[in-house]
Amino acid sequence: MQTLVGDMPHTQRPVAQTPSATPAVREVAPDIYQVRLPLPFALNHVNCYLLRDEEGWTMVDTGLDQPNVRAAWHEACTLLELEPQQIQRIVLTHMHPDHFGLSGYFQHLTNAPVYLSARERELAQTVWMEDGWRPELVAEYWRMGGIPNDVRGVISDQTERLRYMTMPHPHEIATLEAGEIVHMGGRDFLAIHAPGHSDGQLIFYSAADQLMLCGDQVLKSITPNIGLWPSTEADPLGRYLESLNELMALPVLLALPGHGSVMTTEWQARLCALEEHHRVRLEETRRAVEGGATALEVSRRLFNYGKLSEHEVRFAVAEAMAHLDYLARRGVITFSDNGARHYSA
Ligand SMILES: [Zn+2]
Repeated sequence: MQTLVGDMPHTQRPVAQTPSATPAVREVAPDIYQVRLPLPFALNHVNCYLLRDEEGWTMVDTGLDQPNVRAAWHEACTLLELEPQQIQRIVLTHMHPDHFGLSGYFQHLTNAPVYLSARERELAQTVWMEDGWRPELVAEYWRMGGIPNDVRGVISDQTERLRYMTMPHPHEIATLEAGEIVHMGGRDFLAIHAPGHSDGQLIFYSAADQLMLCGDQVLKSITPNIGLWPSTEADPLGRYLESLNELMALPVLLALPGHGSVMTTEWQARLCALEEHHRVRLEETRRAVEGGATALEVSRRLFNYGKLSEHEVRFAVAEAMAHLDYLARRGVITFSDNGARHYSA
């Protein structure tokens, strides 16, 4: 068993840091490298990981397919003296474009298998690889949320824009399921189902050194978006809060997230803070419907649209819908359904 805490100051040394911060590569644990890649959003980076062992390298998450991100990856590989062909497998925590985006490019380059959970594969196929969400699902989503044409346009255009940043797609996606052991970076990782942010997200736990590759389920300084999208399974926020509760039982000394800084001793405290954040937002949501409101109106009350980019408007709508759905399912608020859903407390 490794004494990871003792190793930490040493293992977190930067391998290289370019002035533009593209890419930033550092060894965050023995044989695990974090590669920070640029994103063209307010959230301006995604963390991907490279794990090395005697069998070769595993890539965990890939970034958006954009020329500067491809270049950043190649630079990272050069710094690590790794030929892309040495990548044996590509494991994706979930199908969001900042994680899935370059999986096709790397599969074409390396022939490595790409892994997702079955549910995430289904979502990736529907949303990115086929024609997007089914039109009847989208129409129902607009109607339910009381979402007018201008906002519909913003959400559709942004989704379409993101779709282009996931191309080319992998020609084949293999599946991994919760409960499976994945050997990578010289460790046995247990795949854990961590829903809420995306229905079938998997995160990976190495019990031997209490290390978690936690995807977007637990982030240090921002709260992961919990959204209801046209294809989301029922009750995403309920499932997220349940997942946080399950994760509370695991001892974690080092958590490696998809965005932001690594977490060391604060795992349980961070889980509690995320739970508290949603309790507060649920109360704000309940208050926002006191005089009656549609999902779009609630979203405008919870978030300052003047400060949001078009990319963020999508999240604001989906996040409000997830909180309304949570409260309505539990009878805290009700709604009447004529044209749009009108919620009231
Ligand atoms: Zn992400």
